[in-house]
Amino acid sequence: MPKTGISELDEKIVSALERLAHVLRTLLWEEATESRLSPIQIQTLLYLNAHSEGLCRVGQLAQEFGLTPATMSDAVASLEAKGLLTRKLCPEDRRAQTLRLTAKGRRSSAKLSRWADAFYQQLEHFSYEEKTQALQFLLKLIESLHRSGVITVARICLTCRFFRPHAHRDSRTPHHCALMDKPLAESDLRVDCPEHETAPALSSA
Ligand code: SF4
Repeated sequence: MPKTGISELDEKIVSALERLAHVLRTLLWEEATESRLSPIQIQTLLYLNAHSEGLCRVGQLAQEFGLTPATMSDAVASLEAKGLLTRKLCPEDRRAQTLRLTAKGRRSSAKLSRWADAFYQQLEHFSYEEKTQALQFLLKLIESLHRSGVITVARICLTCRFFRPHAHRDSRTPHHCALMDKPLAESDLRVDCPEHETAPALSSA
């Protein structure tokens, strides 16, 4: 019986997302066992490989993964001891450190990036339209969770100050990025944009 205010459909959506999250966790654990790294260490290597230095401070990573700074520091120290990353002081803030992959770390990260292959293989069976609709729904859900404070970091178009929704009549590219001055299709919307800046209404929320 659904709880008050929560429909059966809502419950099914949360249950389906939980199942998918479980599959992703399992795949990551399998990769962790094989590579002798913890899931947090794997996520750290993959994150550092995909983001610019400005987003690679220990505090930023802790926020990104929903961990305490102490837990994040332990993971970083362990990766440093394995020769997979180095730290350096930020020129603009001498108390902060940015992280950078070593050549060995980049090689490991390239190997680890295959951890979700089983998932990608199944996505090949879905049409472009189905995947675009799924992306739309997930981005709106992330935006909503970000607005209510459940998700702290959301570098998606929908929360960006440069995003202009439905700015164009062309239904193939209805949105606009004011930073790149470029129309955006639904499938162009970004999930983790390095140029993202939080919209003022959200940063003060
Ligand atoms: S800067 Fe990035 S996140 Fe912001 S609207 Fe443009 S593409 Fe989207």
